Amino acid sequence: MASKSVFKRIIDREIPADIVYEDGDCLAFRDINPQSPVHVVLIPKKEIADFQSVTTEDEAILGKLLMAVPRIAASLGLNNGFRLVLNNGRDAGQEVKHLHFHILAGRPFGWPPG
Ligand code: 5GP
Repeated sequence: MASKSVFKRIIDREIPADIVYEDGDCLAFRDINPQSPVHVVLIPKKEIADFQSVTTEDEAILGKLLMAVPRIAASLGLNNGFRLVLNNGRDAGQEVKHLHFHILAGRPFGWPPG
């Protein structure tokens, strides 16, 4: 069996994380290597490797993840806006093979992204 991803280990409480949001399907915690003053990683508790691996079974989970974003933003007081990022696959720089969103805030962001 493939070894657990670092995010699965956070879900299973095998390694610590600064958790900012949790419900039955989703978990959000502060990134260990923040790219902005606020940098939160939002994941499904279900193990889904990447965005291209989602199936119709995952529609409800995807909805719950997206609905959690403004809730997390409000709870963290991100009143000046935030950027939501999903890195899918090698060219996008996805390092952890567990579907996740990045919620970035606390500074202005350039466009186009790097
Ligand atoms: P990716 O590059 O796959 O889109 O993003 C993975 C993110 O997970 C990176 O921003 C990285 O800093 C973060 N990360 C990796 N390992 C850990 C960890 O053990 N704890 C936390 N909180 N974040 C992690």
